[in-house]
Amino acid sequence: MTRLIAMLLAAFLVTAACGPSASPSQDASAPIRVVTTSTVFADLVRNTAGDRVSVTSLVPPGADVHTYQATPDDLRAASDAQLIVMNGLGLDDWLEETLVSASSDAPVVKLAEALDGIALLPGEEPGEENPHLWMDVAYAGRYVARIADAMKDADPGHAAEIDASASAYAARLAELDGWVREQIGTIPAGNRKLVMFHDALPYFARAYGLTVVGVAVEAPGQDPSAGDIAALIDAIREAGVKAIFSEDQFPTALVDQIARETGAIVVADLYDDSLGDPPVTSYEAVIRWDVEKLVEALR
Ligand SMILES: [Zn+2]
Repeated sequence: MTRLIAMLLAAFLVTAACGPSASPSQDASAPIRVVTTSTVFADLVRNTAGDRVSVTSLVPPGADVHTYQATPDDLRAASDAQLIVMNGLGLDDWLEETLVSASSDAPVVKLAEALDGIALLPGEEPGEENPHLWMDVAYAGRYVARIADAMKDADPGHAAEIDASASAYAARLAELDGWVREQIGTIPAGNRKLVMFHDALPYFARAYGLTVVGVAVEAPGQDPSAGDIAALIDAIREAGVKAIFSEDQFPTALVDQIARETGAIVVADLYDDSLGDPPVTSYEAVIRWDVEKLVEALR
């Protein structure tokens, strides 16, 4: 009896050793499986790590990362991931629960948290911080450095490749940052103010010399009171704001109403939390698209 078990066990071990059972995580040439919350972070990861990565964004393009609910497919992707990349600061906290449900033990990188030398701006509630750091292109460069470090920890055998890819990307972003400054500089100084649907551009505005006069909603999914809307309308009139900007993934009824009462125009197809349809299919394209829309509306 004991001998039979030993033989079966030996047969099993031989089969296991010969079968196609080496898991992708043990194959040094296989790309690292990364899961991100948003399409924007997925694009940052792809550009940072180049061929060394296979990235899945849980939130599809055009869906809202603030209010997203994870699906069973997301749980499978999270449990299979070797690295998890999220923003933190309240943007995508729902992922924490997803990771628990998925029994994931992959390392988690929170791109926006604990970055040295960055003064965070206030969020929707007292004590909270605004999470949209990546819309300042220099801060996106900080995200890239952090992604590169996490990728090298996950894939130390390809550190040189990852470094080369990350530094080429960082150089492109530095150039993009300069271009944004130049473009915003073409808007007359008195017109460099805007109203947003949700508070996605405070870091962008601080970096490039614009003023966000107000936001239509405290956070996606939260409707403003009649008093909030009246106060925003007053602020728009007083500051002479020319345009209200909203994103492709949000309804426009509210900003349309505010525009009717103030004479401001609505530009309803900015991108910040999500990539979109071509040509807005990368972070760099998002920045170029938004800057062109801002310049066109405010000049
Ligand atoms: Zn947002």
